[in-house]
Parts: sequence; C-alpha cells; structure tokens
Amino acid sequence: MIRFENVHKTYKTGTDALRGVTFSIRDGEFVFVIGKSGSGKSTLMKCITREEKPTEGMVIIDKYCISKMPRALVPILRRQIGIIYQDFRLIETKTVKENIAFAGEIIGVPRKKLMQMVDIVLGAVGLRDKADSLPQELSGGEQQRVAIARAMLNSPKLIVADEPTGNLDPETSESIMALLSEINRTGTTVIVCTHDSNLVDRMKKRVIEVSEGLIVRDEKGSGYTAEEKHALPQSMIDEFVPEVVSLSEITGEAESLPEFPDEKKEEKLPPKKNEDSEFPDEKKEKKLPPKKNADPEFPDEKKEKKLPPKKNEDPDFPEEEDPDFPSEIKEDKDK
Ligand code: ADP
Repeated sequence: MIRFENVHKTYKTGTDALRGVTFSIRDGEFVFVIGKSGSGKSTLMKCITREEKPTEGMVIIDKYCISKMPRALVPILRRQIGIIYQDFRLIETKTVKENIAFAGEIIGVPRKKLMQMVDIVLGAVGLRDKADSLPQELSGGEQQRVAIARAMLNSPKLIVADEPTGNLDPETSESIMALLSEINRTGTTVIVCTHDSNLVDRMKKRVIEVSEGLIVRDEKGSGYTAEEKHALPQSMIDEFVPEVVSLSEITGEAESLPEFPDEKKEEKLPPKKNEDSEFPDEKKEKKLPPKKNADPEFPDEKKEKKLPPKKNEDPDFPEEEDPDFPSEIKEDKDK
C-alpha cells in the first residue's frame, strides 16, 4: 500500500534528511518509525502526507505516486489520511464535538449524520462525556484522544501519527498507543513515529529504525493481524464516504487539471499568482484547457474519464479547508 523507493530529501539548507530510503508497508500493518532526534523520522512521515516532497525517489500510496502528484490534489490525498500530531492541533475555541465535526463539515456531510458519526468516534476513544468541553478543559491524554477521534472521522485507511505521545506521561502514552493499536485492529494501517523505545519494545510491532537519513533496521513485529472492520458502520461509510473522494478518483480529478507535474517543465514556468501556498486556487486551474497526454504515474486516467463529475467540484466544498493543517486553526483563532 505504501512504498518508498530510494527516497532522498535534501532541504534548502543542504541538510540530507533522507539519503535513499526504500521500504514497503502493507495494508493493515502497524509500524513504528523510530530513531534519535534529527535522524529523519519526521521528514519520512511528511513525505507520506506530502507536507514535504522528496528531492529524489518516489513515494507510492496504492498505485499512485504521491510524490509527483500535483499540489492541487494534495488536499484530496490528505482526506484519505488521518493525521495525528504531538501538539494535538485542536481549535481552542471549539468544543470537542465541534473540533471533530469540523473534519466532516468541510466535506459536506449532513449535520444530523455528522453528529451520529462524531458520537461513534467519541465513543471509540472513550470521551462521550467530554463532547461539550473545550480543549483547555481536558488533560493532554484526553486532547490527544480527541485528535485521534478527529482522525478517525472519515474512516481513513491510513493513520499517520508523528510523536503522538511526545507531550504525555508514560502511563497516558501507553493508553494512547493501545488506542492506536485498537484502531489498527479494525483494518486501518497505522504508522507511528516515536523516540520512546520502551513503549515500542512492549508493543511488539514492526519497527523501522532511521539513523542519519538511512534505514538501519526493519524488524517484523509479532502483533495482531488486522481484520477487515471499520470504526464506523459500513452502511454509514457507504452513504457518506463517497463524499470523501477516494484515492482511486484522484485520476478523475486530475483530468480536469491541465498540469501534471513534469518537474523539469514546472521549474521553467514563471511562478503563478496563487501558487505560493500548498493549496493553489483550484477553480482557476480548472478553467485551463484539458491536458492531452495521461501522466504515466496515473495509469488509469483514461478509464476514470467515464466517471461522473466529482462531488468535491462543488464550490461549497472548498479544497483549501483542511482541519489538520495549522492555517485553518490560525484562521479560526483570528475570528
Ligand atoms: P527527526 O524527526 O528524526 O527528529 P527530522 O526529519 O525532523 O528528524 O530532521 C532530519 C534532519 O533534517 C535534521 O538535521 C533537521 O535539522 C533537518 N530538517 C528538518 N526539517 C528541516 C527543514 N524544514 N529545513 C531544513 N532542515 C530541516
């Protein structure tokens, strides 16, 4: 499901954070990425969520080379991934249930159903009684549970957690890891980056160790085999998850976008007005003429042309809004 193929990442400062990383993660695996501070763990995780782009090599999710995906499609990719951070990234002015619901609101799930979904994920993390609390009224462990519930809302196939227990005491850390392990048992692939080796040793999962930008250990664990179950009832997923454009539909989206990222070509082009952010003005891009040749990275593009128009082309679902990213949180605070 996830494949890193000789991934290098050199930052503008000249730091070689990743120096040729190759590995695969199958659907339903639980994997720890460990290593000392500065070894390249976060860079590796950011290459999965496309917060960073490799300077060389490929990151493939399912059959899509996400490292070469146009920036305009990155929000669609991120909706397929539940992302959990060390600092929780909850919106301070919203209650627990509003924080979680936010992830569904932006994809247009009707309010009543959304609240049912929120209730289910809150139940899964054991926080139903805190639904109306504000983040500052919760302990660190509870806040991280809210962040996990938020990550679960769209029933992602993949959860990526970057040092999720970095701000928590050992006991709470253990319970957060147990929760992530439970989610993994429902069939979700979970990748956790941590420097807490005691915890990792106890969990008996696969461990990928990074040192100075290289993989120095890849040890299979003796954990559970995931079952094909999801946190939300299948009927609810069937009814509402189509609102969340699946990765397989990315090629359909790509069709309405003219530019596929031939990297070299991109370098030669003058900068576009709205391209200074990770989320360019998509409406503008859609007005450009359709691209003639299918990109080899997205081999099913022609097939996907038969699909009906995507729901996320609706102007009511602005692509730029993504609750996992700090820009929205900032915006919200500014209100
Ligand atoms: P870890 O998560 O293991 O602590 P990182 O992936 O954050 O490691 O960092 C790996 C190396 O890349 C470090 O030397 C770090 O200083 C450097 N680095 C990380 N992010 C950036 C950045 N945005 N710009 C420049 N250097 C960076």
